[in-house]
Amino acid sequence: MSKRAEPIRAVKGTRDLLPPETWSWQKVEDGARGVFQAYNFREVRTPILERTELFARSVGADTDIVTKEMYTFEDRDHESLTLRPEATASVVRAYIEHGLFNERGIHKLYYMGPMFRRERPQKGRYRQFYQIGAEVLGSDHPAIDAEVLEMLLLFLERVGLRSFTLLLNSVGCAKCRPEYVKVLRRALGSVKSTMCVDCQRRAESNPLRVLDCKVEADQPIIAKLPSILDHLGPECRQHFDRVLAELKQRGIPYEITPRLVRGLDYYTRTTFEITSSALGAQNALLGGGRYDGLSEMLGGPPAPGIGFSIGEDRLVLAVEEAARSKEAPTQELKDAALAAYVAWLGDPALGPASELARRLRRQGLSVEIGYEPTKLKKSLGAASKLGARFAIIIGDGELASGRYQVKDMSTGGQEEVESARIASYLKGRIQESGARIQHYETLIPGP
Ligand code: AMP
Repeated sequence: MSKRAEPIRAVKGTRDLLPPETWSWQKVEDGARGVFQAYNFREVRTPILERTELFARSVGADTDIVTKEMYTFEDRDHESLTLRPEATASVVRAYIEHGLFNERGIHKLYYMGPMFRRERPQKGRYRQFYQIGAEVLGSDHPAIDAEVLEMLLLFLERVGLRSFTLLLNSVGCAKCRPEYVKVLRRALGSVKSTMCVDCQRRAESNPLRVLDCKVEADQPIIAKLPSILDHLGPECRQHFDRVLAELKQRGIPYEITPRLVRGLDYYTRTTFEITSSALGAQNALLGGGRYDGLSEMLGGPPAPGIGFSIGEDRLVLAVEEAARSKEAPTQELKDAALAAYVAWLGDPALGPASELARRLRRQGLSVEIGYEPTKLKKSLGAASKLGARFAIIIGDGELASGRYQVKDMSTGGQEEVESARIASYLKGRIQESGARIQHYETLIPGP
């Protein structure tokens, strides 16, 4: 007897998202599309595979992402390629490559998709994770920073999140930051020997990176280091003050966090993070900021930009958690129900039954039908298991009269409805009850 083959499991740190959980993902993505479109953002899709150099140059050669976390491999023609660890660099590359800067005005783009970082997997941290992000290219106006944050907050509100905190900082620019880095390097001189090995190295190569060290024992030392906000140049100071004023005007609360430098080198001026108390240790829901020199770093023209990236895995966790704690209506998170199950009895009924299913589906109603001959009781059991709102029963008598039985699965009540009228009957009943039923009318307009 042959032995059964060993099952193959998903790669560590990656996971399958299965229904009904995928419903929450779709809701979050639909919410993002809706809110981003309201702010005139349009979607961009860039490749998952990029040249390694793109990230080394933009994210920064000394960041954790580039030194330890990228999935980098040599292609068959010996070119070094990397699975994207983030998407801002790709969006800016595409912006330059397609000459979008030649079109006047600002560009507002959004994206969603998988990113790859070889981190230690834990709840809320994966090696393949998903981000939803947006970028504005072509303006350094502080009102844009505030508008981006306003949009983010509206989005979080729309997906049902309430308890989160906006952490805000300015990391200066290419003009004023070197001065701060000097001060920081000096301050680190006397304490670095007591810090972790990574910080000892960073203190020399890129002192700013010390500020986002996650090692617990280093935190009290980091807290005493000089604050970047005391070393902003006049233009960066003015920019930051204006961002704060714009936020106040919009009624957006924030916490100034001078150690927030984010783990990527390309950030300038405004940087931010939103944390959620609904998450555990990995409480950063999203991060972002300005990157005014990034286009030039990648060989493009000067094009100031600002963007953010939401960790979709964590957002879904937080949204589900909020729903459980009744912050959001739970109904929203339930997979929408099936409109109808078509139950047919006897071979002659199969043709008309599948014809009815086709008609209802063309009207945008979600319908299931079984093709194996089945007893009525079993069909109704299947309808109930699938959460169908109605069961439509077609047997010999119904075929003869052209009037089918429509059974309300929640009350058990039954009505006879003329076959041609069933779609409008179901729609009317569903609308009356206010139930959320899967429908795709926006995709498939009814006749
Ligand atoms: P970053 O691109 O590092 O600025 O991260 C932006 C957001 O992506 C974070 O706030 C997280 O929510 C999410 N994120 C980053 N790395 C991971 C990961 N390994 N697993 C899950 N989410 C992540």
